[in-house]
Amino acid sequence: MKHRRSTRAAGDFDVVVVGGGHAGVEAAHAAARMGARTALVTHRADRIGEMSCNPAIGGLGKGHLVREIDALDGLMGRVADRAGIQFRLLNRSKGPAVRGPRAQCDRALYRRNMQSELHAARRLTIVEDEVVDLEMRNGALQGVLTGSGAHIAARAVVLTTGTFLRGMVHIGDESYPAGRQDDPAALRLAERLDAMGLPLGRLKTGTPPRLDGRTIDYSALQEQPGDAEPVLFSFLGGTELAPQRVCHITGTTARSHEVIRRNLGRSALFSGRIRGVGPRYCPSIEDKVERFSGKESHQIFLEPEGVDDPTVYPNGISTSLPAAAQAEVVATIPGLERARILRPGYAIEYDYVDPRALNRSLGVRALPSLFLAGQINGTTGYEEAAAQGLIAGLNAARVAMGGESIRFDRADGYLGVMVDDLVSRGVAEPYRMFTSRAEYRLILRADNADRRLTPRGIEIGCISERRRTAFLQKMDRLERGQGLAHSLALSPAEAERHGLHVNADGKRRNVSDLLGLSDVDFDRLAAIWPELGAIDGEIRAQIENDARYSGYVGRQLAAVAEMRREERCPLPEGIDFRRISGLSAELSGKLAAARPSTLGEAARIDGMTPAALALLLSAARTDGKRRRA
Ligand code: FAD
Repeated sequence: MKHRRSTRAAGDFDVVVVGGGHAGVEAAHAAARMGARTALVTHRADRIGEMSCNPAIGGLGKGHLVREIDALDGLMGRVADRAGIQFRLLNRSKGPAVRGPRAQCDRALYRRNMQSELHAARRLTIVEDEVVDLEMRNGALQGVLTGSGAHIAARAVVLTTGTFLRGMVHIGDESYPAGRQDDPAALRLAERLDAMGLPLGRLKTGTPPRLDGRTIDYSALQEQPGDAEPVLFSFLGGTELAPQRVCHITGTTARSHEVIRRNLGRSALFSGRIRGVGPRYCPSIEDKVERFSGKESHQIFLEPEGVDDPTVYPNGISTSLPAAAQAEVVATIPGLERARILRPGYAIEYDYVDPRALNRSLGVRALPSLFLAGQINGTTGYEEAAAQGLIAGLNAARVAMGGESIRFDRADGYLGVMVDDLVSRGVAEPYRMFTSRAEYRLILRADNADRRLTPRGIEIGCISERRRTAFLQKMDRLERGQGLAHSLALSPAEAERHGLHVNADGKRRNVSDLLGLSDVDFDRLAAIWPELGAIDGEIRAQIENDARYSGYVGRQLAAVAEMRREERCPLPEGIDFRRISGLSAELSGKLAAARPSTLGEAARIDGMTPAALALLLSAARTDGKRRRA
């Protein structure tokens, strides 16, 4: 990677990515992996990969996204593995489909590792500058214009500007324009998007104060250790771990709630001064105290921000109270009585683009060589941003260098679920991934993301030789393991003799069938057939997880086939939904806003009914006949 401050003649690129946050790094790296000459233009190279809020990657639903990014050779998983200071597999007691790997990270190490990944990338140049405008000629995108006056030409541009578009920071009754604390807001760029007719909205989010860990009294607090055997994100594995750390748990008290209530009128988030919509599932402490007024305490996780960094992130008290009130609240929390605040919490309000203006490659429908990814599309979270960045980067490279667009559907992965949700339904509040959003979640497990997506990545051309080889070797081991598992079987009588209770139906059951029983695991079967002991842990887990769901997977695959059939039924471009008789005004309005290009996309619009779909299908057929005539 070359790194420079921009000059007036910044040069020509295939792809320019604007922003070095979580979406930007994946977009730039993906475009470069595809062979595109790529420039990543961002305010400050030393803040590339910055975690603006909590120092953690993954979690429920989000961990799936990280695995999928990794399966396509993206960066987030392997960088988080190297920076992880505490790993936990969430939902461990539940089925494998909803388990989510999570890592608490050393913030500086994450940034450093991300930057060195970009340094090692070929065809990637980092330009330290601000993009102030898009360069257009005769309605076509030519590149970008920077604050220092440089013109950077590109065939495709990816905007990943996060919370920076007309960003406004709020602390108590103070407000000032900023993209995030200590960074400038992007004003002219927002005006350009507005002038292009892109639908803009306003959202908000907040972050807690940061504490000096050296002033926290941990003695009476509950410890939260990581897993004894860390579950990593990257399928490549082999990471040397950073020193591991524990977290601690505390909580607010009646006194904290009293201070918060007394200061509510001065909270920017709460007083009504901010009109943007915030994330419902990640409310500020002001919101929690008001909404759950009967609750005596709200839990707070004290998360270290690094191995050599005394900063502690108090997860659970994001706030925009005035700084003095924040100090008063903190002093009422057990263990934090003498804690020093290093930086007060704040709220930020920013513009986002209604993602219904995008196609499934995350290109702007009205200008398909312009891509948007990350928080700019109304999402929240590093993982959601990174997954979109990856998709936008792959597609920007395709636009620049030729080739078909690259799309993922709802059965390919959580990344397909997210894109489909965004472009067909838009967002009413900051969008975050949950496992419940995926209807095919039994086949979309975090543990099988490589089996689902790496072959596709190899076909697309975004996978390194190292990963390709590792993947093919794993598939070889899996095939041998599955072969063995299918070859070893017991009759009901034999099973009974080994203490395994099955129906006396005369049917022989192989290892996979037996693993489907609730009380049978691999170790139990290895005691019967010692040759199973030769199968390594990674392959065992795959065989076990596949077996657990085998009874349901068939049904889910049938639903996927049906969804894909509908997906292959195109709706004519330019169809006037308001003229389809029988459709309610509400539904035709929603269809006109979402402009689905297939029957499958239409089926997923909120409130869509089978009767309305039948009307659409018939309208599509009539239109097709009319065009052919
Ligand atoms: P960012 O990571 O913000 O990156 C944007 C990048 O674009 C930056 O590198 C910036 O320098 C660059 N940039 C912007 N404009 C320009 C320009 N014109 N020219 C050049 N470079 C530009 N997420 C959660 O999941 N939960 C939370 O509770 C939460 N709270 C948050 C609180 C705050 C205060 C903030 C700021 C963010 C919070 N987030 C939270 C969101 C999380 O940080 C983002 O979702 C994630 O970082 C989005 O990634 P991104 O790549 O879209 O944008």
